[in-house]
Amino acid sequence: VRIDGVPMYENDGSYRGMLFLLQDITAIRRLENMRSEFVANVSHELKTPVAAVKGFAETLLSGGVRDEETTRSFLQIIYDEGDRLNRLISDILDLSKIESKRATLDCSPVHLMPFFEMITGTLGNVAEKKQIRLILDVPEELFIEADEDKLKQIFLNLVSNGINYTLDGGRVKITAQISKDEENVIFQVSDTGIGIPKSDLPRVFERFYRVDKGRSRNSGGTGLGLSIVKHLVELHHGQLAVESELGAGTTFTVTLPMLQDSVEESEED
Ligand code: ADP
Repeated sequence: VRIDGVPMYENDGSYRGMLFLLQDITAIRRLENMRSEFVANVSHELKTPVAAVKGFAETLLSGGVRDEETTRSFLQIIYDEGDRLNRLISDILDLSKIESKRATLDCSPVHLMPFFEMITGTLGNVAEKKQIRLILDVPEELFIEADEDKLKQIFLNLVSNGINYTLDGGRVKITAQISKDEENVIFQVSDTGIGIPKSDLPRVFERFYRVDKGRSRNSGGTGLGLSIVKHLVELHHGQLAVESELGAGTTFTVTLPMLQDSVEESEED
C-alpha cells in the first residue's frame, strides 16, 4: 500500500488537518514486475545466440582452426544462431504488437481443406526428416471467417510443435469439425509425442516458458510460440486448451467462431 499525505488549510490559512491517500498498488507492482521480468528474459534470450555468434566467429578469425570440417561446423553454428536471432526478434515483435492491442483482424472466408493442405505442405519436409506422418481429417467443404495470415501462424506453430516434440516415426493429426450448436469450428492438433507433465500444463502458454529448455533450444524453439497462439486465438474470440499424457502425446484444441461478425455484434449488445 502506498500512503501519501497532504496538509489541508482553511481559507484564513489556519490548519485544518491532513488528507491521506491510501492506494493499493499491488496490481501496479505486479505489472511492473512482469514487465521487468519480460525485459530480463528478452535480454537473456537475445544474448545467448549473440554470444555464440561472436565466440565462434572470433575463434575462426583468430586462425586457430585449420581443418575444413571444423570450420564448416563453426560456420553452421553461426548461421543457425543467426537464424534463431531472426525468429526471436520476429516473435518478440509479433507479441508486442498483439499485447499492445495494435493487432487487428483482417477477416475473409477461409476454405479449410486447401488451407490445411498448405500447412502440411509447408511442414512436410520437416516431418519427413523425422518420418512423422501428418494426417488431415477436415471436412471438404468447410469454411471459416478468419484472418488467414493469423490462422496460418496459429496452426504452423501448433503443428510444428507437434512435430518437434514427437519422436521419429510418430504422427501428428489435424482435425476440424463443426460444434453441436453449429456456431464454432473445433480444431484439434494431436501428436503421439513426449507429452507435457501435468504440473507444467498450466504454464505452457506463458512467454518463454519451456518444459525442457535444452530440447526447445535444439529444435529451434523460442518459447514464445504458444503465447502468440493464445493471443491470436483470443483475438478471433476463440478458446485454446491443452491436454497431455506424459510419454503418450499432446492435444491442443482451438475453438473458433465460424463467423466473426456475429461475435462482434453480440459483444456490442
Ligand atoms: P517453443 O518455441 O519452446 O516450442 P512454445 O511456446 O511453442 O515454445 O511451447 C512452450 C513449451 O511447451 C515448449 O518448450 C515445450 O516444452 C512445450 N510444448 C509445446 N508443444 C508441445 C507438444 N506438442 N508436445 C510436448 N510439449 C510441447
